[in-house]
Amino acid sequence: MTIMRIDKMISNSGHGSRSEIKKYLKYGNVKVNGEVVKAATTKVDIEKDLVELFRERIIYKKNIYLIMNKPAGVVSATKDNSYETVIDLLDDFYKSFNPFPVGRLDIDTEGLLLITNDGKFSYNLLSPKKHVPKTYYALIDAPIDENDVSEFKKGLNINDEYITKPAILDIINSGENESEIHVTIEEGKYHQVKRMFKSSGKHVTYLKRIKMANLELDENLKNGEYREISEEEMELLN
Ligand code: URA
Repeated sequence: MTIMRIDKMISNSGHGSRSEIKKYLKYGNVKVNGEVVKAATTKVDIEKDLVELFRERIIYKKNIYLIMNKPAGVVSATKDNSYETVIDLLDDFYKSFNPFPVGRLDIDTEGLLLITNDGKFSYNLLSPKKHVPKTYYALIDAPIDENDVSEFKKGLNINDEYITKPAILDIINSGENESEIHVTIEEGKYHQVKRMFKSSGKHVTYLKRIKMANLELDENLKNGEYREISEEEMELLN
């Protein structure tokens, strides 16, 4: 049994702010078990009571978990003065949950980005102590060889003090002016993949995250599209 105030229950379920819900209540638009209720202080059992707003059943939903294929040109933030954010791409329904991106991808990086309003979920994926692997697909402006693979494995000096933890570099194809690779890192330093290649004089010309923990980017999601994560997919993030 989970008891909650009705205004909070409806608001947390993504149907408006607490003050909007209070207005709906005042105008008789909310029913509990078939009876109109007007007091915002009314308590409901979110598992048992039938709560309706404008005759539509409200299913209590506090946390949201979304997977997005982030496009280039939008920032991984909740607000920005100059650029569109990944949150701007969401429907109002999801925005009403106050979601935020789980970590950051650079503005020009594409691919798998999780969005949630669950701080613990986010912490468990981002904390350096958890060593969650993240795999990227990248295009590099130079040939890549076994020496690079072993340098990535050993760790690279990405600034004067910091040596990266072992990373797995897989060469998909190496060319004179362009190579394709997969790289898996367990850290999330600022511009990490770009700086790792830069430390050996190479440049990342395209970067896309394709996997986080055991969850792969859904190739059916076009750039900028998103959807809720299924329960099976949640398991892949544990
Ligand atoms: N590494 C980068 O350099 N950029 C990203 O967006 C993610 C990882």
